[in-house]
Amino acid sequence: MLTRFAPSPTGELHLGHAYSAVLAHAAARSAGGRFLIRIDDIDGSRSREEYVGASLADLAWLGIDWDGEPVRQSDRLGDYAAALDQLRARGLVYPCFCTRADIAASLSAPHGPSGAVYPGTCRTLSDAERARRMAGEPHCWRLDMARAAAEAGELAWEEAEQGLRTADPLAHGDIVLARKDAPASYHLASTLDDAAMGVTHIIRGADLIASTDVHRLLQALLGLPTPLYRHHALVCGPDGKRLAKRDAAASLASLRAAGVDGRALAADLAADRLPSGYSLQNP
Ligand code: GLU
Repeated sequence: MLTRFAPSPTGELHLGHAYSAVLAHAAARSAGGRFLIRIDDIDGSRSREEYVGASLADLAWLGIDWDGEPVRQSDRLGDYAAALDQLRARGLVYPCFCTRADIAASLSAPHGPSGAVYPGTCRTLSDAERARRMAGEPHCWRLDMARAAAEAGELAWEEAEQGLRTADPLAHGDIVLARKDAPASYHLASTLDDAAMGVTHIIRGADLIASTDVHRLLQALLGLPTPLYRHHALVCGPDGKRLAKRDAAASLASLRAAGVDGRALAADLAADRLPSGYSLQNP
């Protein structure tokens, strides 16, 4: 068994991250398996080096140990580019020049599991127009979801609590695989990394359950193995809302500064016991 915890260094870790990390770590260690850390740092505009060190210090404070050096997404850009090239050669991705405002202005855009579904404006551009605009306009790369889903056929994946789930990637529409400002999207980078790291069990928050349908599709397209998944309940604050990076009171740094014992906290979280005022909820 090999599990991982993959923080994005865009802020301080909070109790929700601690819960996720503790569950993934405990699952690996109780099975005699391995536990890896991955730093999801491809978002250059939001990632900060100081949060990498702070996150690792928080994990150590919780008594979490990891195998090897943390993997960094920023070291893996070549792999993301190669996968994108492969999908491009198969006609499964296309450049998209739309701005957020263009997409918002398209009133017909329905909502999917991860926000507005792209209305497909750039899907039908001619090759000549694509070439002309790519020379001068910033663009992202989108997956042609209908083609990709047709090529992959029916897909399923195993959720620890819910059993076998049929993937519904079409509901997401033409998702972004490489952004204007980052060489890969979360979906592409995370799917490739989990395979390259040999992750067998992905344990992460229930907010990502719909994303797994997309990851399952990418695995099928790129010939990658499908891990087992567990999507756990989310830690909510005293206001009943799921914690966010702005909830300073729940940050691990502030709990540590207040004298909380990190190892005792980790043991409590592993048993689904949360500090008073906090609760676990399924979205
Ligand atoms: N960096 C991602 C996050 O913090 C990881 C999600 C995942 O575990 O796949 O949301």
